Amino acid sequence: MKNDMTLTRRSFIRTAAAGSVALGWLGTGQAPRVFAAEAAKPALLGGTPAHKGGWVAWPQWRKEWEPEMLEVYRSCRWFRNSAGHVAEFEQGYAKLLGAKRCLATTSGTTALIVSLYAMDVDAGDEVIVSPYTFIASYNAILSHKALPVFADTDPATLTVDPAMIESRITDRTRAIMPVHIFGMPCDMDPINAIARKHKLAVVEDACQAWLAEYKGRKCGTLGDLGCFSFQESKHLPSGEGGAITSMSEELIDKCDSYHNCGRAVGTNKGNGCFTRGNNYRMTQAQAVLLRNQLEKLVQETEVRRANADYLSANLGKIPGITPVRLSENSRPVWHLYSFRYDPAQFNGLSREQFAKAMGAEGVPCGGVYHEQYYDGLLDEAIASRGFKRLWGTKRLKAYRDSFQELKGNKQVCETTVSFSQTMLLTDRSAMDDILEAIRKVQAHSAALVKA
Ligand SMILES: *Cc1c(COP(=O)(O)O)cnc(C)c1O
Repeated sequence: MKNDMTLTRRSFIRTAAAGSVALGWLGTGQAPRVFAAEAAKPALLGGTPAHKGGWVAWPQWRKEWEPEMLEVYRSCRWFRNSAGHVAEFEQGYAKLLGAKRCLATTSGTTALIVSLYAMDVDAGDEVIVSPYTFIASYNAILSHKALPVFADTDPATLTVDPAMIESRITDRTRAIMPVHIFGMPCDMDPINAIARKHKLAVVEDACQAWLAEYKGRKCGTLGDLGCFSFQESKHLPSGEGGAITSMSEELIDKCDSYHNCGRAVGTNKGNGCFTRGNNYRMTQAQAVLLRNQLEKLVQETEVRRANADYLSANLGKIPGITPVRLSENSRPVWHLYSFRYDPAQFNGLSREQFAKAMGAEGVPCGGVYHEQYYDGLLDEAIASRGFKRLWGTKRLKAYRDSFQELKGNKQVCETTVSFSQTMLLTDRSAMDDILEAIRKVQAHSAALVKA
C-alpha cells in the first residue's frame, strides 16, 4: 500500500514534537562534547538512548495572546471584511518580507491555486515544477486542468536543478513553480533568467520558506508571486491559513478578486462586475493568531539556523553523511533539516534500519517524500476525460514515460534523511545528542544490520 505522505510526515513531526522541553536557547560557543559513541551500546540493542526528555511540542500557545483572541471572538466580527486584523497581518507580513503586498488566504494550497490563476495558467497549459515537494504543489496545478511537468531534482541541493528546466519547456508551458523545499531557497537567478527568456511566469512555492533569503532578498519576493502555508505543522501556524506575496500591486489585486468570489478590487476593477473567483478568505481570528507570532517566528528562525549550522559543520565529518549544499548566498530556515545517507558507510544498514536505530536513541528521523508521481494521482488525472480531451492520449503517454528520467529525484527520495524543525528549537547539547546518536549507530552498524 502506498503511504499517505501527509499523514506520514505529520505523524513523524508529531513524534518528533512529543514530550516538551522548555524552549531555551543556550547557543553559546561551547565546544562539542567528547563522544563516547564507540563505547556505548546502541539503544536498539539495549543501551541507553543518546537523547532523553523528548523534543519541543508544536504548535505552541502563549498565555499573553488570550485577551486579544477572546476579544475577536466576543466582537462577533469574524469575517475578513468585518474588522481590520487580516489587513493588519498582511501589512505586517509584507513588511517582514520586504514585499510590496501580501494577501492572506485559507491555506498554502489555495494560495498556489489563486496565484496560478492570476498568472493566467489555464486548462491545457503546462507548469514546470519540482517533483520533490509536498503533494499540494502537484494538485494546485492539476486543479486548473494544467499539467505538472517535472524538472529533475539536484541531489546536492534537494531543490530543482535549473539546468533541467529549459528542456522541459514546450509551446504549452505557461509558468515555472520552484519549491524552496524544507526552507532552502532554490537557485532563483538562473530560474528567473529562463523565465524571462521564454516569457514564463514564476510562482514560488514558499510554503516551507517563511523568512528564507536568497542573495539578500526574502523568498516570496523573488518571482512574480510567492505562496506561503500557515498550516499547523508550519513555522508560522494558525491551524490552516496561507498567504501570497508580491512586488506587484496589480497581481495581488488580481489575486484578491479571485480569492473574494471575483469581486472587483483595486486595480482589478474590470467593468465593475464580478470576474471569475472563489472564496479563499482568511478569518479575523486566524489573522490575530498569526500576527501575534511574527516576532516569535523571527526569533525562532535564528535559533534553528544556529543549530542547523552547528549540525552541518559536524555532520560533514561523519563518513556516509552528506549535508545539503545550499544555493549561493542563501539563508535557509530549515522546515526540516536534511542530509543524504549512504548505507555503504554503515555496513549496509538500510535507511529504514538507520531511522529505527536513531528513533531508539531518542532522535526521530526518516525519509520524507517518495516518488509521488507513481502514486496514481497523475494516472488518475491523465485517464480523465478532461485531460485526454486537452492533450490526447499520445502526449499523455509520453508525459507518463518521462517520469523515468527523474534520476536525481529518485536518488533524493531514496537517500534523504530528515529531522523535524522542532528538534532545532533546542540547545547545543541536544545537537550533540543527535551527533552522538549517529556516531553510535555507525560504530555499531554491523551489529544493527542483524538486529
Ligand atoms: C504545506 C505545503 C503546501 C500546502 O499548504 P497547506 O496550507 O497545507 O495547504 C504546499 N507546498 C508545500 C511545499 C508545503 O509544504
